Amino acid sequence: MSSILNADLHCHSIVSDGTLTPEALAERAKANGVELWALTDHDEIGGQRRAAAAAKAQGMRYLTGAEISVTFAGETVHIVGLGFDAEDPRMQQGLADTRDGRGPRAMEMAAGLAKVGIQNAYEGALKFVGNPALISRTHFARFLVEAGHCKDTPEVFRKYLTEGKPGYVPHRWATLKDAITWITQCGGIAVIAHPGRYKFTANEEYALFSEFKAHGGRGVEVVTGSHTTAEYVEYATMARDFGLAASRGSDFHSPDESHTDLGALPYLPGDLTPVWELLADRIQ
Ligand code: AMP
Ligand code: MN
Ligand code: MN
Ligand code: MN
Repeated sequence: MSSILNADLHCHSIVSDGTLTPEALAERAKANGVELWALTDHDEIGGQRRAAAAAKAQGMRYLTGAEISVTFAGETVHIVGLGFDAEDPRMQQGLADTRDGRGPRAMEMAAGLAKVGIQNAYEGALKFVGNPALISRTHFARFLVEAGHCKDTPEVFRKYLTEGKPGYVPHRWATLKDAITWITQCGGIAVIAHPGRYKFTANEEYALFSEFKAHGGRGVEVVTGSHTTAEYVEYATMARDFGLAASRGSDFHSPDESHTDLGALPYLPGDLTPVWELLADRIQ
């Protein structure tokens, strides 16, 4: 398969912080012309069987997926795993451990919000949660919009949920090495998600890419809903410089919130190796 393929290898369902079911996502992906799809819920693979079955029913090819939260150089970095065996207990345990701190973190977030006069945010966020093991900042953001504190979710993040703001709680996620190891030992490949979004210096970014490679990481998202067109060019260069394969994904969460729809992205630059070429035997 060449780089001219409508692959969407990054999106979220109600199993994490998306608003659609795996089946509704599959239908929407198909309608938008997606040929190869992966559902990549945050720290969760509970939707994988449904997604694979829905892809098959729609006549789309499918790769298993997850987006793992990692702490690197004091920042949260996301690592997408593709094509791993979702039944492997090592992956299941690693993700369960990564999810573990989310409940207590959410209680602390609510306590921080209560101090600035926003009461019962935990209960409010829970109303938006599809999976009790996966309460995220996105669910708090939806509650704050519903309760009239902000006009949309980006405003909530700006005012309440990012570093230094009342609802922000620093958290230690998985290590880069562990996340890559879980993915790789279960037969998949690890991909750096939306590198353009991290607030790293050039040195820190270089360290991320070097350590990622050293631990066995194989790919980087070049074309993603989180990148500007200038960043497509910038991270295509990084992929070439570091000998990484390239991935493509919308990072779609919700018809009401996401500006990039499933499959609605430019193709990958033709000279890069697409991640699906490395995963030919893992495609369902
Ligand atoms: P968490 O894993 O609980 O820290 O939540 C992270 C999620 O919040 C991301 O995957 C995005 O879906 C969402 N998010 C992060 N930053 C923003 C932002 N500035 N605007 C809107 N959503 C955001
Ligand atoms: Mn998200
Ligand atoms: Mn992400
Ligand atoms: Mn994502």
